[in-house]
Amino acid sequence: MIDLLGLHKEFLSRHIKEGDTVVDMTMGNGHDTLWLSDKVGEHGRVFAFDIQQSALDSTRGLLEKEAGSSNYELILDSHSNVKKYVSSPIKAAVFNLGYLPGGDKSVTTLLDTTLTAVTAAIDLLGPDGIVLIAVYPGHAEGRREGGALEELLSGYDRKKYCVTCIKIINSPDSPYFIMVESK
Ligand code: SAH
Repeated sequence: MIDLLGLHKEFLSRHIKEGDTVVDMTMGNGHDTLWLSDKVGEHGRVFAFDIQQSALDSTRGLLEKEAGSSNYELILDSHSNVKKYVSSPIKAAVFNLGYLPGGDKSVTTLLDTTLTAVTAAIDLLGPDGIVLIAVYPGHAEGRREGGALEELLSGYDRKKYCVTCIKIINSPDSPYFIMVESK
C-alpha cells in the first residue's frame, strides 16, 4: 500500500542536496524542519515559518537537541511574507497545511494566505527545485485550499514547471500531495 509520508521524503530527496537553501513554510512541531536541516547540512540554510510562538518554541527545543548544525532560522511570521526574509534561489519549500494536531484548531492555514505563499515559493525556486504541499481535505478550509491550488497551478506553463497531484481517489478525505517541480 502507498506510504504517503515515505513518498514525501522520497520526492524531496530527489531535489535537495547538501549546501542548498530550503524553506519549511509550516513549521508546526518542527519535524520537517529537522529533516531539512540534516539534509542540507552545515553549508546549507533552512528558513522555517509559523505564526504560533508555541510552534517556534517546540521546534527550537527539538532542533537544539537533535539537529547536527545550527543552519536554521525560525521566523514568527506568516509564510505569505516569505519574500521579506528569503531571497532566490531556493531548492525546496514544504507546506503542511491545516492545523497542528493536538494544538489550537482555530489556528489553521487559510486559502488567501496559502495561495500568496505558494505563489511566492514558486517565484523563489531556482532550477530543479520543488514545492511540496500536503493538503488536508477532511475539513472545509482544507478542501477549499486543495481545490483552489489545483485550479491555480494547472495554469502554470508546462515548459517551466511540472505540477503533479498524488491522491488516494477512493479515500477523498485522506491527505494528499501537490508537487511543483521547476525545470
Ligand atoms: N495538518 C498537519 C499539520 C499542519 S501544521 C498534520 O495533520 O500533520 C500547520 C502549521 O501551520 C501550524 O503550526 C500553524 O500554526 C501554521 N500556520 C498556519 N497559518 C500559517 C501562516 N499563515 N504562516 C505560517 N504558518 C502558518
